[in-house]
Amino acid sequence: MSITKKDETFYPGPSHSALAAFPPKERWDDWVELDSRAWPRRVEKHSMLVPTTCFNCESACGLLAYVDPETLTVRKFEGNPEHPASRGRNCAKGPATLNQVYDPDRILYPLKRTGKRGEGHWARVSWDEAVNDIASRIRKAIQEGRHNEVMYHVGRPGEDGYTERVLAAWGVDGHNSHTNICSSSGRAGYHYWMGLDRPSPDHANADVILLISSHLEAGHYFNPHAQRIIEGKERGAKLIVFDVRLSNSATHADQWVSPYPGSEAAILLAIANHLIQHNLYNREFVHRWWNWQEYMLVERPDVSPTFENFESTLKDLYKEYTFAFAANESGVDATVIEEIATLVAKAGTRLSTHTWRSATAGNLSGWQVSRSLFMLNALLGAIATEGGTYPNAWNKFVPRPLYTPPHPHVWNPLTWPIEYPLAMNELSFLLPHFLKEGRGKLEVYFTRVYNPVWTNPDGFTWIEALSDEKLVGLHVALTPTWSETAYFADYVLPMGVSSERHDIHSYETHDAQWLGFRQPVLRTAQERLSKSVTDTRQVNPGEVWEENEFWIELSWRIDPDGTMGIRQFFESKQRPGEKLTVDEYYAHIFEHSVPGLPERATAEGLTPLAYMRRYGAFEVQKKIGAVHDQSVPTEELEDIHIDTLGRVFTRKPRPAGPNIVPLPTLDNDSEGRRLVGIDLDGTIVRGFPTPSGRLEFFSRTLKEWGWPECALPSYQRSHVHPQQLEAGQMVLIPTFRLPVHIHTRSANAKWLDEIAHTNPLWLHTSDAARIGVHTGDLVRVETEIGHFVVKAWVTEGIRPGVVGCSHHMGRWKLSNDGQRQLMATVSLEHQGQRWTLRREKGVEAYSSADADSQRIWWTDAGVHQNLTFPVHPDPISGMHCWHQAVRVRKADLQDRYGDISVDSDKSYAAYKKWLDMTRPADRVSPDGTRRPYWLLRPLKPGREVYRLPVVKPTETD
Ligand code: SF4
Repeated sequence: MSITKKDETFYPGPSHSALAAFPPKERWDDWVELDSRAWPRRVEKHSMLVPTTCFNCESACGLLAYVDPETLTVRKFEGNPEHPASRGRNCAKGPATLNQVYDPDRILYPLKRTGKRGEGHWARVSWDEAVNDIASRIRKAIQEGRHNEVMYHVGRPGEDGYTERVLAAWGVDGHNSHTNICSSSGRAGYHYWMGLDRPSPDHANADVILLISSHLEAGHYFNPHAQRIIEGKERGAKLIVFDVRLSNSATHADQWVSPYPGSEAAILLAIANHLIQHNLYNREFVHRWWNWQEYMLVERPDVSPTFENFESTLKDLYKEYTFAFAANESGVDATVIEEIATLVAKAGTRLSTHTWRSATAGNLSGWQVSRSLFMLNALLGAIATEGGTYPNAWNKFVPRPLYTPPHPHVWNPLTWPIEYPLAMNELSFLLPHFLKEGRGKLEVYFTRVYNPVWTNPDGFTWIEALSDEKLVGLHVALTPTWSETAYFADYVLPMGVSSERHDIHSYETHDAQWLGFRQPVLRTAQERLSKSVTDTRQVNPGEVWEENEFWIELSWRIDPDGTMGIRQFFESKQRPGEKLTVDEYYAHIFEHSVPGLPERATAEGLTPLAYMRRYGAFEVQKKIGAVHDQSVPTEELEDIHIDTLGRVFTRKPRPAGPNIVPLPTLDNDSEGRRLVGIDLDGTIVRGFPTPSGRLEFFSRTLKEWGWPECALPSYQRSHVHPQQLEAGQMVLIPTFRLPVHIHTRSANAKWLDEIAHTNPLWLHTSDAARIGVHTGDLVRVETEIGHFVVKAWVTEGIRPGVVGCSHHMGRWKLSNDGQRQLMATVSLEHQGQRWTLRREKGVEAYSSADADSQRIWWTDAGVHQNLTFPVHPDPISGMHCWHQAVRVRKADLQDRYGDISVDSDKSYAAYKKWLDMTRPADRVSPDGTRRPYWLLRPLKPGREVYRLPVVKPTETD
């Protein structure tokens, strides 16, 4: 049955699926199913259905918890048909949330280290003891002006800005993220075009869908996008997939190409060139929206800055990107590239494109892949059109919070070092090198749902830094499950999973804006039974706490009397001087900052908070359209000034509220007016949040900040280009996900572990024959700094000369503490500069409160390849370039499955080599600042600290 078919038997909410598939919302208080285990007797099971959102990937799909009203336990999780993005559907990881809640190995109480760091000795402590200790250290650091010694390092945020505001309230520039090992290069390519760092493709309405990723199985907004890609295909859209492997997406494609890794931008630019040379581009769109005039004024002062002159320049600029050139770089036949170019050209404004990690995350200059991909949309005018690709902010809704603390007045060079003025996010994976080099130290370091020892490259250097108490004074691991990093913590504090915490979020899943609400489902269930809950620890397992309440409590203890100016941001507005409650926080947002929600709630006789607790999501607006082309209301215009590039500046303060284009804040004119839009043929429209207000084909920022050769979308050869490889080397693709796992967060889900528990090396049949191995044989993969030993999987589903290994496996533990369903027990040795890790014991059955743990039949847990990778920071985006030049050979006789060996001197040398590729701000900054102010930054400090410190001359100078 078609999932898009409209019929009266279909669920009336966002899912549009068969009615029988979902319980009607009117019956969510008492939903009755028959107990299958009681058959043939007819035994009814009554459940309360309480919505929340999944925390297992960034999509935040809607879930419905089926709560037993007698025992107040969760029976199962299914999809929430009221959620506008996921529409009642989930991937395997959604329902597996149940395993995570009842995981017999989960951490239920705060733990404090008793032996040396990493020794694995723990004692249970009270939350009071832990919070007091942490708060007193933070308080002292702030009072002594050591703000940069407080750092919060987040893996999966799962929320929109709550914790950034906590850090801002403390006045610290302490936000650190995982983004530079994930998506910085993907983001940078989009950011340089439109000032926003993510795409929002309208796959369901596209004629051509072009993916540079394995998006259907494991992309960014995986399930919400995958279902819309299938809808697009049902409508007749052609699906083109670039993927080195035969991924699940590739198997669904009309055109699958497997290019040489790193050559993707060459193909995309050849397609762009085809559009340009044959005048197949949308001339009106390019004329209206590209910053071609700025390009001509700056780069072609020799000719008159007319659009016709620009068009002929454009032809000249891209003429070298022929199909033959792309074929030569990529190994994809020129006729295939031409076929794809013809398909793309026919799509017109119905071209939806998407890339996220994939090639952008693998390669040096990978950010030029997303930039070249988006150039196709920019040429065809397929931006914010039906079936095109939207800027993410057009399809995302972020309500105003209760409090907005000021920007911190400090700059943290441990996360934003001088060498990377253009980095899209914090240089998180270089932190241990920076600490070991003496660039700073940390008094309190939070890792939160983040596992850098395992997830990041160069994990042994992380272990070295985390083991040194002079570098990291106190390491607090906020985590719902054991991780390799938690072993090197001082406190391990148990945090809630999807159904045990509050968060709000909104993602660019399709052409709409929505707000999702994660909530502790047992709290809401208790409230439906008229029982009051004041703290999530009253309903969560053990003493698992939600983070919102934890941060409020911690902030009060840092500033108990309010004299540090921190406590004010965590106080009740309704009861001045008292602690803010989570109810008040969200009630305020839902009542005051979500257009349409109060009215919808009133129509159902509910408060806005009660509405969100009942349904878990709200669709704010559908069919957003081209926000950049909206006229600026005249009431926003006052004392305007229009400059030579058509940028419009005003004195009127920025109005508060949603749906306003986030224009860059640097570009005040000389009289202090702010940029409000651009003048297009006499109409003042919103434009894009770039310095020019237009789509920046030409990046003046890149030119002026030391990278003139990258100022236009272009192709730079990757660090794994054939010319960079030594004889006998192959390229290792280590970036792909397994569809049923999610990095470090899903080992505690037994259903998922049973489905996937290994990560063999994909090896083409021709390479296997050359090396002399068969499927299941052990091979040794040698990287620049060491090696790992893994099993071969011989397949035709990967390009010859390239090997692939999923990063979703290889979890390990040093003792019995840990998650036993997917973590092997290992020994870890360190002699001189040599680190080795050897698997002592695989996964095995064990006794626990869950009888299924006795039924574990798998022994494998995969191999931890990331430990053997050195850091490869892209000098512009800061992204770790994951692909590796490796040698693959038969394992030695003494090699054992899962062996890891690394030389940390070599990893330091690799760090220095890549650092030398940078162009530091103190050499290239055109205005004496550390970073262009308009570039996004998760926690933006005050403008005054953007200035580079003045170096005083010494007496000998
Ligand atoms: S893990 Fe699956 S169900 Fe959960 S948010 Fe991601 S795509 Fe949705």
